[in-house]
Amino acid sequence: LGFIAEEDRVNCPFYFKIGACRNGDRCNRAHSKPTSGNTILIPHLYPCIPEAMAVANDDEWDDETYARQQEHLEHFYEEVFLELAKFGEIEDMVVLDNVSEHMLGHVYCKYFQDDDAAKALQQMSNRFYGSRLVNIEFSPVADFREARCRAFHETRCARGGMCNFMHIKHIPKAVKRNIVRQMYEAHPDYAGAKAALAGQPAKKRKVRPRSPQASRLFQEP
Ligand SMILES: [Zn+2]
Ligand SMILES: [Zn+2]
Repeated sequence: LGFIAEEDRVNCPFYFKIGACRNGDRCNRAHSKPTSGNTILIPHLYPCIPEAMAVANDDEWDDETYARQQEHLEHFYEEVFLELAKFGEIEDMVVLDNVSEHMLGHVYCKYFQDDDAAKALQQMSNRFYGSRLVNIEFSPVADFREARCRAFHETRCARGGMCNFMHIKHIPKAVKRNIVRQMYEAHPDYAGAKAALAGQPAKKRKVRPRSPQASRLFQEP
């Protein structure tokens, strides 16, 4: 048995497809971290509130618990999406529902252009979200649909929040469409803006007092 050269190690299918592997740095297979690309990962950015954990874990939860976590999530999604859209046109952004340590609160953002992802990575690194330092990395995930857990998105997943495939938190289509529209209203120079802005103007969402954490979103140190 000889030693296997680093470059000959087999790619870890989890890292390659999902951008996260439970074995982390101790994995026997290679985690080839990309140094460029159009998708970035902001690990553990979503601050899981107890209501969100209950829903993700499939614990007992009632409608009110669900509504509270959903409102918190949509508010977070809108703010982070519009902040990241300052660096370029976003194709899609997902927040994970998984509760395992190596996937908890992960946010993946896919830009249309590699350059924009690079800009985001460069300018968002070393900022603070609340009291936490934001770390950003390029992610090998090319297609969120390929990375997600089929069972979770079709019915329910028996592994619950500990599943190793992406459980993507649900953002209703109408909410997402409205946020995308806000991106184009703020950046009418983006490629998709003209088509997107041809219809109705974005609905103003009800004004909510911003949480102290949210108002400190992505502060520079
Ligand atoms: Zn691995
Ligand atoms: Zn699953």
